[in-house]
Amino acid sequence: MSDSEYEYEYEYSDADECSDYPVDDSDDDDMEWDGVNDNPNPSPVILGTIKEAGIRMLPAEDVIPEMKRCLEDATEILGVPAAAVAVLLREYKWSKEILLEKFYSNSDKLEKKLGVYARCNPVPMKKSSKTCKICYDDEFPMIAMPCGHEFCTGCWKEFVDNAISEGPSCIQKTCPEANCSELMSEIEVRVAAPNSLPKFESYQLRSFVESNTLTRWCPGPGCERIACASSTSAMEQANNVAHCDLCDISFCAKCAEEPHSPANCKDLAR
Ligand SMILES: [Zn+2]
Ligand SMILES: [Zn+2]
Ligand SMILES: [Zn+2]
Ligand SMILES: [Zn+2]
Repeated sequence: MSDSEYEYEYEYSDADECSDYPVDDSDDDDMEWDGVNDNPNPSPVILGTIKEAGIRMLPAEDVIPEMKRCLEDATEILGVPAAAVAVLLREYKWSKEILLEKFYSNSDKLEKKLGVYARCNPVPMKKSSKTCKICYDDEFPMIAMPCGHEFCTGCWKEFVDNAISEGPSCIQKTCPEANCSELMSEIEVRVAAPNSLPKFESYQLRSFVESNTLTRWCPGPGCERIACASSTSAMEQANNVAHCDLCDISFCAKCAEEPHSPANCKDLAR
């Protein structure tokens, strides 16, 4: 597989297709950071080209290049495909520092736990079988995952479309083979169901924004602007207020409630 096939190509040609990714806190638990308490203030996260101090509101199309840059950066350092890096970084709230530490302490274990082992360690493909194990047909071309499990194009398309219709959890979907924990990625989506790719990528962006400690969706209904902090300290400071021009509302960039200085977010929640 060539490098270019691993590249993210975010193209939001149709605004309607990504109109449903903000802002649903109901599945926040999925995004909880599970562990790595040894470094409570990981030097974050990776919005390096947002140079201005403080908080800025950016449209999704300006945040996507930041996400791509994070991925390319980590891909270069780790030498694993971007599709896997996205999964690895998500696990550590997009802190490259923590990912590197975890990765170098036991990369095999981490890759297996997160379902990207085969993608990072591709095995040479065996001779392709002709019969799809889902529909038992043998007249269609086959699409294989890096783990070697392959299914026909028709079954793949159905699998991908079903996964995406389930909503944001589609980015956690594993290989159609029972008991295989390898994650499906945008690579399979692009090949099997290209019409579904913009939706899949909008869920990836949503996950980036929600799992990244420096970003937060505007709480305005249906608004797709993203509050971006230049640093953790900008996010923590007392005047971390974001203002969305589109919605004409101000909110705390950290908790998305109304500005509440001098009380901090925890006090407010109480
Ligand atoms: Zn099939
Ligand atoms: Zn598999
Ligand atoms: Zn807004
Ligand atoms: Zn707050």
